[in-house]
Amino acid sequence: MSTIKVAVAGAAGRMGKEVVKLVLEDPDLELVAAVGRSGEGTDAGTLAGLPECGVKLTSDLEMALVEGRPDVLVDFTTPQFAYPNTTLAVAHGVRPVIGTTGFTPEQIEELDKQCKEKGIGGLIAPNFSIGAILMMKFAAQAAKYFPHLEIMEFHGDQKLDAPSGTAIKTAEMIAQNRQEIRQGNPNEEETIEGSRGGYYNGFRIHSVRLPGVFAQQEVLFGGFGQTLKIRHDSYERAGYMPGVKMAVEKVMTYEGMVYGFDHFIE
Ligand code: NAD
Repeated sequence: MSTIKVAVAGAAGRMGKEVVKLVLEDPDLELVAAVGRSGEGTDAGTLAGLPECGVKLTSDLEMALVEGRPDVLVDFTTPQFAYPNTTLAVAHGVRPVIGTTGFTPEQIEELDKQCKEKGIGGLIAPNFSIGAILMMKFAAQAAKYFPHLEIMEFHGDQKLDAPSGTAIKTAEMIAQNRQEIRQGNPNEEETIEGSRGGYYNGFRIHSVRLPGVFAQQEVLFGGFGQTLKIRHDSYERAGYMPGVKMAVEKVMTYEGMVYGFDHFIE
């Protein structure tokens, strides 16, 4: 099998640097472009803490796609830029693997259309951690038997979007396995606004943001005389990379936009 040519958008960011490292250290992958908004001209390898690799950081994604001719664009940027980056990649026939969170269902549907028109695959995955995917799947399964639940997610205090993409995806998977029921006391009143968290399909999602926290999520189920907790803890960004590698390989094999890495984990 020939190597897969990869461009990384957000290459100077925390996740982007891990992806650059993954690509440079994996003999099946080849780094052909690194795009970032800061540090233009810096060697992408040096930025990722490795020896120089000869790929310089550029701020011009379109140029990077034209000159680097990647097979895949891996994007870990910001919710504001990830959508235009993805449409640009698809327009150039480059398969997007998107880790950036915050895409709307309408955007995903539109991107699915664009990918199919171009005859290429794409993936939008709010979470590349295999453990987190299992947590979501187990939670969706448990919801069949424990329809009363709350989701608590914990992230660092600089995260831009709330609830997290993982929490939204978990909520959607749970909603597919359970009738909408309005939980709690119908006469409940919040004396401090927001105390009960965000409302989704009859249950609540709580987003905790604190310095020092990396990424955790707990789905708490309550039934007659018992509770069940399903919890996943991420401790470092490297934990997402086996999933990113699997995604880069898989996206070469189908057409259309897949939403959620869970589709690749049986
Ligand atoms: P970060 O702020 O460290 O990195 C983002 C980088 O993108 C920054 O260097 C920024 O300068 C750069 N950037 C912004 N706009 C750009 C553009 N138009 N072109 C190129 N680069 C651009 O953030 P992070 O912690 O690396 O997270 C990035 C995203 O990934 C967030 O949306 C986060 O929620 C998501 N995330 C997803 C997963 C997952 O498994 N899917 C895991 C962790 C984080």
